[in-house]
Amino acid sequence: MTNRITQLFNINYPIIQAGMIWSSGWKLASAVSNAGGLGLIGAGSMYPDVLKEHVIKCKAATDKPFGVNLPLLYPDIDKHVETIIEHKVPIVFTSAGNPKAWTNILKQNGIKVVHVVSSSLFAQKAEAAGVDAIVAEGFEAGGHNGRDETTTLVLIPAVRNAIKIPLIAAGGIATGKQMLATMILGADGVQIGSRFVCTPEASSHLSFKEAVINAKEGDTLLSLKKVVPVRLLKNHFFDEVKNAELNGATEEQLKNLLGRGRAKKGMFEGDLENGELEIGQVSALIKEIKPAAEVVKEIWEEFMMCKCANS
Ligand code: NDP
Ligand code: NDP
Repeated sequence: MTNRITQLFNINYPIIQAGMIWSSGWKLASAVSNAGGLGLIGAGSMYPDVLKEHVIKCKAATDKPFGVNLPLLYPDIDKHVETIIEHKVPIVFTSAGNPKAWTNILKQNGIKVVHVVSSSLFAQKAEAAGVDAIVAEGFEAGGHNGRDETTTLVLIPAVRNAIKIPLIAAGGIATGKQMLATMILGADGVQIGSRFVCTPEASSHLSFKEAVINAKEGDTLLSLKKVVPVRLLKNHFFDEVKNAELNGATEEQLKNLLGRGRAKKGMFEGDLENGELEIGQVSALIKEIKPAAEVVKEIWEEFMMCKCANS
């Protein structure tokens, strides 16, 4: 299949693996790129030297295009950008911030830039900032989430109407049928996170992957809206936040409760009770850990089978 997204990134399938903190290291990114999708390294959890190491290892593990997800809140962002330019990473997905800040510099260095948004308004701002494509991420998504709670089913057609550049759908997608549904709604490709957590190549802890597989409908909820809205698996930490919120905790009190490194504790070190476990609603549909290449193949085959049956 050839479309605006496969051409933009020079990939076989318009399937992009999300750059998730603590899960998306070079092993996952290179495995997805080798399978014909686009793999992303999640730089938000990486110190500058660690990102450098992962970019070098990724380049050694694949000769296909891959990218880096750069959360714009990251404290040492200029060092990450230096690494990206120096090591000629061809694609950057920016998120959680204003795309005006870095788009020009990245594009001047020949890098394709994609920005993640959760509303039509932000999509238009990102298009005006000159990005090459948009990821529109709905309420179902894990981790960082929009404040407006717009679901993927509503967000994709709304953003499609608001912008002209290529559109990638995200939030609640783990199967070929879901991919087809978002493409019927106007997307040119999909970004998938949670499904790729449950692969041997994801760098997150096995206990976290198993918790994702065991998750049922209703086991994830949006939390911490006063600080930064994130979708989390329910656990002891989630309950602590919920109780604090019910008791009227201020943003400052919630930040103190959150502390530092909660996400690492949960997703990388496997502390399922006291850590922050970021994952999407679609975890309810994920039943096994399997290699990233198989995940890509299954999604693609189901997408093509349903597309043909419907045409
Ligand atoms: P390597 O195979 O080179 O090394 C794995 C390293 O990870 C080991 O040194 C190990 O330390 C360390 N490690 C394993 N489990 C944990 C844990 N629960 N908490 C802290 N450290 C742990 O791995 P990679 O090539 O995949 O990764 C290279 C570097 O990038 C490593 O330093 C790794 O920690 C880091 N990384 C960071 C990610 C992020 O999102 N920030 C994601 C993936 C890796 P030891 O042998 O002492 O147990
Ligand atoms: P915290 O402030 O709680 O902790 C910072 C974490 O990031 C620590 O675990 C630390 O590792 C690691 N880290 C990596 N590089 C640096 C650095 N240069 N300075 C300080 N810490 C660093 O933040 P979170 O864990 O909640 O979030 C970390 C980052 O991930 C943020 O930039 C955030 O915007 C982003 N993020 C991205 C998401 C996504 O979906 N892509 C979702 C959620 C967060 P160590 O413990 O080893 O010191």
